[in-house]
Amino acid sequence: MTDKVAGRKAKIILDRDLCKGCGYCVDACPKGVLVMEKASFNAAGFLPAVVEKPSECTGCALCARMCPDIAIEIWVEE
Ligand code: SF4
Ligand code: SF4
Repeated sequence: MTDKVAGRKAKIILDRDLCKGCGYCVDACPKGVLVMEKASFNAAGFLPAVVEKPSECTGCALCARMCPDIAIEIWVEE
């Protein structure tokens, strides 16, 4: 499964205004794609997760599954 995941194109879309800053997605990502914002609050008053290294995303969707607020979408081109 790892080889198949590594070979496909993936896109992550994170809606910063749906994020409540829990950090679950950052902890879940095996590739270090996501980090927590340190200074810029979102519309809901939280410091949201940020997609820092989009090119590293494999499309595994662990981050999206962990997000309690459905703030992350993963699109994969097989
Ligand atoms: S889909 Fe996987 S690799 Fe991509 S940001 Fe989410 S957890 Fe990380
Ligand atoms: S898991 Fe969802 S709500 Fe929590 S920091 Fe990540 S995007 Fe935000």
